[in-house]
Amino acid sequence: MWHILKQIVRTGIVTEPTPQVADLDTGVDAAIVQRIHQDILDILGQALTIRQVDAGSCNGCELEIHALNNPYYNIEGLGIKFVASPRHADLLLVTGPVSKHMAIALKRTYDATPEPKLVVAVGDCGCTGGIFGESYASLGRVANVIPVDVEVPGCPPTPTALLQGILAAITRHADAAEPAVAQPVAQPPGGEPA
Ligand code: SF4
Repeated sequence: MWHILKQIVRTGIVTEPTPQVADLDTGVDAAIVQRIHQDILDILGQALTIRQVDAGSCNGCELEIHALNNPYYNIEGLGIKFVASPRHADLLLVTGPVSKHMAIALKRTYDATPEPKLVVAVGDCGCTGGIFGESYASLGRVANVIPVDVEVPGCPPTPTALLQGILAAITRHADAAEPAVAQPVAQPPGGEPA
């Protein structure tokens, strides 16, 4: 115990102060991130749950998805969170060319996701097959295996691009959910419709 206390006194505080947003050289425009946040809140107005599926990625895209979860992007503050089960998910975020070994798992994950479900294909590999393409081991783009709503190109795409892709998927869902013009229900003679 004494040794530890001496070590603490000798070392002092070595952590650096938290950088301000203006000091960060991330190449990310904070105004863009804030606008995307507001758009997501305006359009969705509720929590969004995401199940991420690595269908055969090199994991470069996962690193950016991981970065999307850091406090800088504050997606949890928007009510967007990643979940472990597709049964709890509104949106599937799928990376990689789909390896043949992952095709059945991806289809089952898609089937297990409740309607209305959204699918965002991530990265050049997810959009086109990327550098891996189609081969004896790869089925190529995600759309070759399950229906895709939005594609986010890039190798890998930035967290901001991922947020924009999620926003595009939500917007598409909101447009599709516009209530159809109600048709008048024919009244049977002498009473309410059955
Ligand atoms: S798009 Fe690039 S980073 Fe993403 S899985 Fe393919 S090779 Fe890796």
